[in-house]
Amino acid sequence: MSDDHDAVLRLRQVRKSYPLGPVRVDVLKGVSLTVRPGELVSITGPSGCGKSTLMNIAGLLDRPTSGACVLQGRDVAELSGDERAGLRNAHIGFVFQSFHLLPRLDAAQNAGLPLVYRGVPDAVIAKRAGEALDRVGMADRSGHLPGQLSGGQQQRVAVARALVGEPAVLLADEPTGALDPDTGREIMAMFEALCGQGVAVVVVTHSAEVAARCHRQLHMAQGILVDDTPAPTPRADLRRGHGSMPAYGLPQPPRSRAGAAALRGLAMAERLRLNAREAGTSLRSVLARSALALVGIVVGVGAVIAMVSTGQTVREESLKQFRELGTDIVTIRRQFTRVRGRALDIALADVNGLPAAVSTVESAAAAVDWNTPIRYRGQALDQRVAFGVTGAFFDLSKLPLAEGRLVSDLDGHRFYCVAGAGLARGMRSAGAVSPLGERVRVFGRLCTVVGVLESVPPLAVGRQLVPDESVFLPIVAAMRAGGGGIREAVAKVRAGVEPEAAQREVEAYFRRIRPELRVNVATASQLLARMRSQGQLFALLLGTVASISLIVGGVGVMNVMLLSVRERRGEIGLRRAVGARQRDVQQQFVLESAALALSGGALGVALGVAVAWGIARFAGWPFSVSTAAIVVGVAVAAAVGVFFGLYPAYRASRLDPIEALRS
Ligand code: ADP
Ligand code: MG
Repeated sequence: MSDDHDAVLRLRQVRKSYPLGPVRVDVLKGVSLTVRPGELVSITGPSGCGKSTLMNIAGLLDRPTSGACVLQGRDVAELSGDERAGLRNAHIGFVFQSFHLLPRLDAAQNAGLPLVYRGVPDAVIAKRAGEALDRVGMADRSGHLPGQLSGGQQQRVAVARALVGEPAVLLADEPTGALDPDTGREIMAMFEALCGQGVAVVVVTHSAEVAARCHRQLHMAQGILVDDTPAPTPRADLRRGHGSMPAYGLPQPPRSRAGAAALRGLAMAERLRLNAREAGTSLRSVLARSALALVGIVVGVGAVIAMVSTGQTVREESLKQFRELGTDIVTIRRQFTRVRGRALDIALADVNGLPAAVSTVESAAAAVDWNTPIRYRGQALDQRVAFGVTGAFFDLSKLPLAEGRLVSDLDGHRFYCVAGAGLARGMRSAGAVSPLGERVRVFGRLCTVVGVLESVPPLAVGRQLVPDESVFLPIVAAMRAGGGGIREAVAKVRAGVEPEAAQREVEAYFRRIRPELRVNVATASQLLARMRSQGQLFALLLGTVASISLIVGGVGVMNVMLLSVRERRGEIGLRRAVGARQRDVQQQFVLESAALALSGGALGVALGVAVAWGIARFAGWPFSVSTAAIVVGVAVAAAVGVFFGLYPAYRASRLDPIEALRS
């Protein structure tokens, strides 16, 4: 035909058949149709005769069983799904009977959706969507959600969406079927205006009135198309592509294979960003329903955080202890032993006699501590730990003197004391010029400060010791005033002796002189190893909890996402119809899943920090929030979301757009 090169759309001998059990149902039996720019074509026919099938093929949503479909001079038969999506986006506008607006997007966002998948900048989309809404008389409703609009208004928004991308062909499948006659007439008036600007419009309708307004009336019966009008003479001024359309400065719809490739090759980051934003639009409603599914993620991420930060604390602590105390000490702890109703304690004489009796021990010290108020000049200081110590304690614990003198065994019952750096500071801020010679009240008795220690970090070998926050009295005086017995002592191993040898000898010493008392003697490295294995146990426990919870949480997320995909089939179909590629749908759902898991992860971070704090308290370690732990926790949540979102997203992307739209 001589005027074929004018056509925007040509169908040639299109057949479509569906397998129905052993037979095939022929829905289209060789349909040929040529549509030129500026034409307004109606298709009427009984229900089930194949009108929608024809429209879907013409709109590149469906493939014919045989026959050719040529859009803008290009045969689309061989094109891939994503190439067809690109062509739909560039050349075709759809209007459906049931509007198919996305419920969570407002009118402007709905109208602008095709441009999103064209990679148009946000500001341009907003401007173009506004103009499109203006053309359908909906400018004042741009912020309204579809639920806040009447049916007629929703269909206007749908028309705005169909024309926002300046399509060459507008396909409307019973667009007025759900509307009252007046609104139907207004919609038809819009189509006529579009035709006036060179767009080819094909309307499927049951209304004789609608059909009568069209330039060409086609009739369909049982898969055969009958043209009821003589071929029109297209007006030259309506031919598309010669300035009849207003120029909006949009990226030009591709007219060649290279153009389609450019469209497909939208920068990955850009594509990710737009799909992330689309994912964000539905996240809130998904979140509200999936709080329970997130419990697993919350617990799992919490456990990961607790695990990592506890592990880190243990490593740091044990290293620090090594540095500060050295490896040449053994600790002696009495096991709880009860004899005739009384708990047995270590005797001071046993500790003091240790260096003389055991050749591998150089010195030994005992310490007892109390949690008791310490008052100065009538007011309570913040510090509340009093220690009773033997003279060797300071050397063994590497506590350096800043001023004055240390207390020694020679001080006996006298109430002298050495103040920790923090305590001395507290006294100064309570008015003391120098703490030396001042008197603090401990155990209700006045005690003269004879020395002040330098500030040192807390120690945690054996029990927690915070020297800065403590006051140290001669052990005899302190035990008489405070009561209680010695449960712990420290011995320093002679230089050149294996700590394990000293450990065995100290054990033997206590067995010999105090057979009824059971003591636990440990070297520094054993203490550290114990601490480490305690940490590893925690890590193992938390790791188990983490993996189980994350799997449970991941399956929960997957379930939520699968439900979401099923519920949103219409949305998926519509997005595909306006030009979203499979990859776009896939990305959107993976990102939704990741965001879902991440929001659970955020709660999990809070939980994990709390648990790590609890463990540190329980174990007597200093607590610090580890950024590495938080990073790991967030990354794990995101990874779970992505991994368990892949399958639902795959399902979503593989949905047949026509099937999806039909639901
Ligand atoms: P119309 O829009 O004219 O009412 P359709 O094009 O929707 O008709 O459908 C035409 C015929 O094709 C119907 O008989 C319908 O049952 C059949 N049909 C449509 N889609 C499918 C499908 N996916 N599988 C089998 N039959 C189908
Ligand atoms: Mg139909």
